[in-house]
Amino acid sequence: MGRFQRARVGNAEIIALQDSWASVPPSMFYPDVPAGAWDAYGEFLDGNGNLTLNLGTWLVASEGRAILVDTGIGGRPAPMPLKEEPALPAVMEAAGVKPDEVDIVVYTHLHFDHTGWNTVDADGAPALLFPNARHVVQRAEWEYWTASEEQRAAAQYANALAPVEAAGLLDLVEGEHAVTSELTTVPTPGHTPGHVSFALASAGERAYLIGDAAHQPVQVREDGWCPGADVDKTASAASRKALFARIEREGALIASGHFPFPGLGHAVAGADGRAFRPLADG
Ligand SMILES: [Zn+2]
Repeated sequence: MGRFQRARVGNAEIIALQDSWASVPPSMFYPDVPAGAWDAYGEFLDGNGNLTLNLGTWLVASEGRAILVDTGIGGRPAPMPLKEEPALPAVMEAAGVKPDEVDIVVYTHLHFDHTGWNTVDADGAPALLFPNARHVVQRAEWEYWTASEEQRAAAQYANALAPVEAAGLLDLVEGEHAVTSELTTVPTPGHTPGHVSFALASAGERAYLIGDAAHQPVQVREDGWCPGADVDKTASAASRKALFARIEREGALIASGHFPFPGLGHAVAGADGRAFRPLADG
């Protein structure tokens, strides 16, 4: 499988791209979930009792456009220990798309692990990796991360955001923006104030690129569980519950950048509640 995997959605295609991945203790990632609650979910933990956190992005081919959904953790030293060198540009090229062929970059939100490859380091200065792409951000998200020096620093503004703005490639949009007639924005606030997911609908098939509306497949069932990183946990849980109910009802494909790679599967109803069924398992 390597570090990319294709899935067809009607006349469109999505490609899961793995930038890197990390291993995190569940108690650190989900500080509000009692340790004993994980006893029922050993299938989601590795041999050391840790969660696998994929760091992935998505290419969507829709109506002749190459659309990148989020840009990964990037090539600079990361503020978290990684299991593999981030390699999004090489992974994209292996999947058949060069960075300068990307027409549109859209963001689920502006956390550093979703904007990292906006630029690469060129002799100490940030250089745009996607110079031919419009970079589409929700206005509420942009305003949140640019509201103060502290917020700008947290969003790695100088390297990740300022160069896009300075180049005139930034498009601020609000709410249910249509990226193409097949790919539309679904507001799912909570993880961050302007967090969105994307719905891809083509020729009767549907997929949802869920961003950080959830980070682990266990949250397909335990949709009230919130990671410590959620800015507004009440809103995050409400968004997640509504999104997974919609996905289950529509029989849609889930595309998650943080679920174990490739993060593709369905929400399936069972006797114990809803569960995530990876695509590879049928
Ligand atoms: Zn994330």
